[in-house]
Amino acid sequence: MDVSDLIDPLNPAQREAVTAPLGHALVLAGAGSGKTRVLTHRAAWLVRVEGATPWNLLAVTFTNKAAAEMRGRIEQLLGVSGSGIWVGTFHGLSHRLLRLHWQEAGLPQGFQILDSEDQRRLVKRVMRDLEVDENRWPVRQLQGFINARKDAGERPEDLDTGDPYSGQMARVYAAYEAACRSAGVVDFAELMLRTVEMLQNHLELLGHYRRRFRHVLVDEFQDTNGIQYEWLKLLAGPESDVFIVGDDDQSIYGWRGARVENLQRFREDYSNTRVLRLEQNYRSTSTILEAANTLIARNSDRLGKKLWTEGEQGEPIALYAAFNEQDEARFVVERLMAMVEELGLQRRDIAILYRSNAQSRTFEEALLARRIPYRVYGGLRFFERAEIKDALAYLRLIANRDDSAALERIINTPTRGIGNRTLEAIRLAARDQDVSLWAAARGLVESRGVLPARAANSLRAFVELIDGLAAGTADLDLADRLEAVLERSGLRGHVGKDRSERAQDKLENLDELITAARSFEQDATIEEGMDTPTAFLAHAALEAGEGQAGAWEDCVQLMTLHSAKGLEFPVVFLAGLEEGLFPHRMSVEEPGRLEEERRLAYVGITRARQRLLITYAERRRLHGRDEFGIASRFIRELPPGLIDEVRARFSVTGPDAAGAGLGQGVIPEAEFNLGERVQHSRFGEGVVLDCEGSGPNARIQVNFDDVGAKWLVAAYANLERA
Ligand code: ATP
Ligand code: MG
Repeated sequence: MDVSDLIDPLNPAQREAVTAPLGHALVLAGAGSGKTRVLTHRAAWLVRVEGATPWNLLAVTFTNKAAAEMRGRIEQLLGVSGSGIWVGTFHGLSHRLLRLHWQEAGLPQGFQILDSEDQRRLVKRVMRDLEVDENRWPVRQLQGFINARKDAGERPEDLDTGDPYSGQMARVYAAYEAACRSAGVVDFAELMLRTVEMLQNHLELLGHYRRRFRHVLVDEFQDTNGIQYEWLKLLAGPESDVFIVGDDDQSIYGWRGARVENLQRFREDYSNTRVLRLEQNYRSTSTILEAANTLIARNSDRLGKKLWTEGEQGEPIALYAAFNEQDEARFVVERLMAMVEELGLQRRDIAILYRSNAQSRTFEEALLARRIPYRVYGGLRFFERAEIKDALAYLRLIANRDDSAALERIINTPTRGIGNRTLEAIRLAARDQDVSLWAAARGLVESRGVLPARAANSLRAFVELIDGLAAGTADLDLADRLEAVLERSGLRGHVGKDRSERAQDKLENLDELITAARSFEQDATIEEGMDTPTAFLAHAALEAGEGQAGAWEDCVQLMTLHSAKGLEFPVVFLAGLEEGLFPHRMSVEEPGRLEEERRLAYVGITRARQRLLITYAERRRLHGRDEFGIASRFIRELPPGLIDEVRARFSVTGPDAAGAGLGQGVIPEAEFNLGERVQHSRFGEGVVLDCEGSGPNARIQVNFDDVGAKWLVAAYANLERA
């Protein structure tokens, strides 16, 4: 039997893992060492050599993108396609099991899946029925509670309800479950828990799958949480072999309950696990790998792995200290355009990675302005996000009361007691009188007795809110007007009610919207006859509707560091490396969370194959405020010798000169140009890198051949042309 195609593209350690005798195995290895490659080859090996059928395989990974790639690889190695191999994510595979066995799972045949927004709405409805005060019990907090309990495998009746607080939470959880049951819907967390319970309660079914899935393979094992581990333990029976691959240094979902200890636990639960290590990295240049290794060495409690490469040294890591976030985006986009042209790269070879979703906006705008196709993975584009659309809908309605779509979007967001019945009455009146929803609503408020008093009052308050906002903010500039809208409408309070990471993300997005409005006012050329809000809304609508390239198109890849796990790109830009942003400000106080941030930085760096470029902004308007950024500690933790600083090419001190000074780089006082060679009496020859200030305070930075870069006061430096 010829299996050379399975074996040849592997090094000896990888070969050992792929061809290991049957039994449990754990491949513990660093980034880019071929774990995913080994896993796919192992799957094919089991079928071609060990006599398994594709039917016997269960392969699990973390994202849909990774699952699709894995399926493609395995089918290619097996020379079959559409073979129905069970390859997927935990949620996807659970869904498949529940669809097949809906009766055993106690679900209606056509059960539907609730996404997180739907889930929130349902929790809210349940709370209203139970007359639970939303101000004391924020909906999002209860939603988070329910999901966390499900992830821990707990039903309402399992909870301790000793004190009033827990009692209330459990009561809502129970009522929510009843509501899901009667509506025939399941949420994401339920997919996992329901599958586990179904298998526990139907031993014949469990036995069937245990006999079937003789070989269970799991990628990115370090990020499994409690219920996922439970799920695996159930499906992999006593007769099954489990083959897992992972890297403790890439565990980045601790905040969502993932337990890196599961790696350890696995070795205890599955006796005779063969532990294999891979140490050669095939992905990155030695420069990139050394940077990653040095960084991660700072974490404590590592399982400890070596990682080396035969790859060439490659280019140094470029570090760009941007003047502000716009300059950062300009730098990134100009560099990537140059690389596409000079190095003949495809656009899809280039990734821009960042810590939080809100950061995508400046890059999106810079790319759009140059008509470069791009795609944002794992998250909506900025102007498509729900909270942004809500805020803009207020602006739209203020600008044009007849914008009925905007009215429908926000009439009860945040909730203000205008229910479906009232909205139905408005729609009906609008249809009858052939007027806009706004006009109909007004009419209903004015004509007594048509609506119940409570509904009429709520509706009157809404009409007054919009009219009041329109009149009261007419003289404000756009950003201040938006600010007033967010406050007075209650939208910001509504979004920020709980303290989950998601809510934090949304608040940041709202702040970012204000930043966008402010820079729009300053920079955009507004067409004649259009007022600023209208122009801004047009800009937002165009951005939301166009520009996003299709998945098949050759386009620049934008994503958060979390969604980049497992992927690789020839060129990676790591943006926004500032203290407080990355590491995130919420993590710097706690050592455990700081280490998780460092692992995230490690994941980011190790995505790069040939070139890594890191940027940070000395000034950033991100959370609606101007912040002065200090370079992230993660930059300082890299070996300085591997870094090549690209200096800013402008000499400005004030924000007003920012645009004008960009890219000119002439130093009038000293009459030296950036990049020119100069001579200093003590330090010898060097190159002018940068300058700042003017007159007697002007300072100039020179990179001296012998002593490195130094800042000098231009008036005293006595520099001469070399
Ligand atoms: P991560 O930890 O980021 O998930 P990984 O350990 O799963 O990384 P892979 O993605 O499997 O690593 O491999 C990294 C890169 O190295 C891929 O491009 C892969 O094709 C290549 N590679 C792996 N092993 C070899 C090998 N023996 N020879 C040549 N290239 C290899
Ligand atoms: Mg991998």
